[in-house]
Amino acid sequence: MVKWVYGFGGGKAEGKADMKNLLGGKGANLAEMANLGLPVPPGFTITTEVCTYFYANGETYPKELAAQVDAALDQIGKLTNKGFGDTSNPLLVSVRSGARASMPGMMDTVLNLGLNDETVEALAAKSGDRRFAYDSYRRFITMYSDVVLGIEHHLFEDILAEHKDANGYNLDTELTAEDWQHLVGLYKQKVQDESGKAFPQDPKEQLWGAIGAVFGSWMNARAKTYRRLHNIPESWGTAVNVQAMVFGNMGDDSATGVAFTRNPSTGDKSLYGEFLINAQGEDVVAGIRTPQEITEAARKEAGSDKPSLESAMPEAFKELTQIYGKLEKHYRDMQDLEFTIEQGKLWMLQTRSGKRTAKAALKIAVELASEGLISQEEAVLRIDPASLDQLLHPTIDPKAERKVIATGLPASPGAASGEIVFSSEDAEELKAKGRKVILVRVETSPEDIHGMHAAEGILTTRGGMTSHAAVVARGMGKPCVSGAGSIRIDYAAKTMSVAGHTLKEGDTVTIDGSTGQVLQGQVRMIEPELSGEFGTLMTWADKVRKLGVRANADTPADARTALKFGAEGIGLCRTEHMFFEADRILAVREMILADTEKARRAALAKILPMQRGDFTELFEIMQGLPVTIRLLDPPLHEFLPHGEAEIAEVAASLGTSPQKIKNRAAELAEFNPMLGFRGCRIAIAYPEIAEMQARAIFEAAADAGKKTGKPVVPEVMVPLIATRAEFDLVKARIDEMAAQVSKEKGVTLEYQVGTMIELPRASLMADKIAEGEGGAEFFSFGTNDLTQTCFGISRDDAAGFLATYTARGILAVDPFVSIDRDGVGELVRIGVERGRKVRPNLKVGICGEHGGDPASVAFCHEVKLDYVSCSPFRTPIARLAAAQAALGKEVASQA
Ligand code: ADP
Ligand code: MG
Ligand code: MG
Repeated sequence: MVKWVYGFGGGKAEGKADMKNLLGGKGANLAEMANLGLPVPPGFTITTEVCTYFYANGETYPKELAAQVDAALDQIGKLTNKGFGDTSNPLLVSVRSGARASMPGMMDTVLNLGLNDETVEALAAKSGDRRFAYDSYRRFITMYSDVVLGIEHHLFEDILAEHKDANGYNLDTELTAEDWQHLVGLYKQKVQDESGKAFPQDPKEQLWGAIGAVFGSWMNARAKTYRRLHNIPESWGTAVNVQAMVFGNMGDDSATGVAFTRNPSTGDKSLYGEFLINAQGEDVVAGIRTPQEITEAARKEAGSDKPSLESAMPEAFKELTQIYGKLEKHYRDMQDLEFTIEQGKLWMLQTRSGKRTAKAALKIAVELASEGLISQEEAVLRIDPASLDQLLHPTIDPKAERKVIATGLPASPGAASGEIVFSSEDAEELKAKGRKVILVRVETSPEDIHGMHAAEGILTTRGGMTSHAAVVARGMGKPCVSGAGSIRIDYAAKTMSVAGHTLKEGDTVTIDGSTGQVLQGQVRMIEPELSGEFGTLMTWADKVRKLGVRANADTPADARTALKFGAEGIGLCRTEHMFFEADRILAVREMILADTEKARRAALAKILPMQRGDFTELFEIMQGLPVTIRLLDPPLHEFLPHGEAEIAEVAASLGTSPQKIKNRAAELAEFNPMLGFRGCRIAIAYPEIAEMQARAIFEAAADAGKKTGKPVVPEVMVPLIATRAEFDLVKARIDEMAAQVSKEKGVTLEYQVGTMIELPRASLMADKIAEGEGGAEFFSFGTNDLTQTCFGISRDDAAGFLATYTARGILAVDPFVSIDRDGVGELVRIGVERGRKVRPNLKVGICGEHGGDPASVAFCHEVKLDYVSCSPFRTPIARLAAAQAALGKEVASQA
């Protein structure tokens, strides 16, 4: 018989931590904690296989399930001395979802299940606290109605608010037992009105209703969005956890809270969290009451006058500290825990690896390794390369003036500026128009995920460090300031005001997620550095990686950034960038407009010293590290002026007529510029351009080599080669220039000539292109163009339909973002294999955007490239991804 249900409690469990696929993360860890002898309320987990069965069989359950659930309920009854539905000593349970990967806030939990008009009286009698019993009942009706019956939460909140107003109450805590009992009557009436049916009184019916709702919620819109954003397959399914209730709302010696074993924002090794006295479940994260700190130290730091858990409940606090230590050692990672204290007794309700910022992740990984809990390799494997992006973004310049409008909690670090918007829809709309926005909300909910994605940063006026906004923003790596309580938001007017100032939609603010400050206007930012734990982890990564990492750098500034972030050379220097500089574009235009070779050479002679200057500076900065320079690549018409005024101006400066410029532009216009007169085709039609560039490179190499004492070995790269003949023609010019410069300067020049592989034909003909004395000495896969030419998809026009392709699963991911292993990847494989066959020491790299994408880096490792080259800011990401690939980390492969 299939086992669909796994019990836990009483110091043991049928499951364990490594059964996440079957039991979900929450269920597996509850089992593990029970096995460790920690105080876990007994319960059972209905497996993810039931979820799979449920959807495969028209939303029905396996026939053995009901009996297995009954037996498990009996077992909880035995352990708690209570009975489910028992009218003198009722067992109440929570029904909780739990997928393999944690999906915070995506699925809803129902608490206090099993309460009805009879059992509530029994609970009142047993606890001697009617107020507590009816408070629990009304919570149950609200949650159950919301989650299972689809009756919106706010309908009940409205009834409560009305009742409070009528009685002059401010806080929920002022309501008496009679108030709650009265409200329960109104709530039940509301359910009757809304659903046409009485609120279910049979605990079994309640239970199956809740179980069905958990499985049902696996397919709700929120869950689907979350899965899509986090690449969680639909096939995983969720488990359902049913667990005996413990009560944090049983008076002032009861509490509920959440905590991290280390600070999830900074990584500091100190217990960190929040709790509420006399509260239940999600009161802490709901942001309705402001939570209290766990430790005295944190309370002092926050300047709070409410007692910490440490001082209010010292016994429970002590036990909690011991459990934290035990769990961290056991799991060898920072844990995120949920606990409840019922009349002084501590109960653990959840543990999992805590989500953390990239900064905290680095600190924690490095410190766990130093503490000997994990190895350096494990530390390297623990960091998500993509998450480093968070640290590679600007923070506010400490010297910049800060006009602080308000201060909230530093919920997710980094800084961002943008126009304020008050809804997720507006955030998405403006983002689509290329604007930068800060999403401002009282608090966020799972419905805001898309807006949070669109925003540069998130600002909320309510909610703590574990509020939805804070948790989700940290996961996304976006700056967030939460709980900025002095700000008043008026959604209808689309304004926010604070201390008499009103800001309206579209006004610019800057948020500093590291200090919690909200600043007026745009504030100056500074560039990030690799210091502290980040630097340490990078040295560990460098020890294990096999792939070299270079950067794509066109300017001296790029090159300096690249070096700062550990690039081992320049894999792609695009020379056209240099042509656009204000002081030389005129000469470039003159060159393009020239009618004769002679006139062209005259214009090129003006450009030569400027190019030489560019390259000299680049070589000097790189101090003998390899630098790959690509000859002019884009279509020439890109350099010509557009618009009447600009054309007239250029014509005047060049002493020619506007008409002549227009004619030349018309001559150069193309239907498919990406497949037109560009790449090596320019060097073949106008060899003097390639000659000028080659000369500039060699003269610069000679000069810089002399000056720095580190010989420069330039790598001259010919773009868009399709045939060996093209390569030979261009290479002959380059060699000729090298020979001339060598003679003129009286130095021997070492250099390489290679090609970019960006056409399928070049991959297929790689052996021809690399073979023999005069063959290409290196390949650099230009995977942007190679993807474009392999798919026949113009990447400038693809945005419109590629999104449809990925949404419909025709392509698993955008192939311009992550390399298409099967198709484009095959061309790379073929190119490497055929090239190396004829030239075993052929140097092979990649220089497309893919060089900074972790999954693509893993692919490059697999096909044994020598290096990847990516944007300077992504070099740390590539270094780490390369190290993880070398350590054999599996990267989610594409379907
Ligand atoms: P989520 O996945 O959204 O965190 P949980 O299933 O963990 O949802 O439930 C949310 C909260 O409900 C828990 O943090 C805890 O405070 C409360 N809760 C869940 N089960 C119980 C229980 N058996 N007794 C008391 N409180 C519970
Ligand atoms: Mg929840
Ligand atoms: Mg939880």
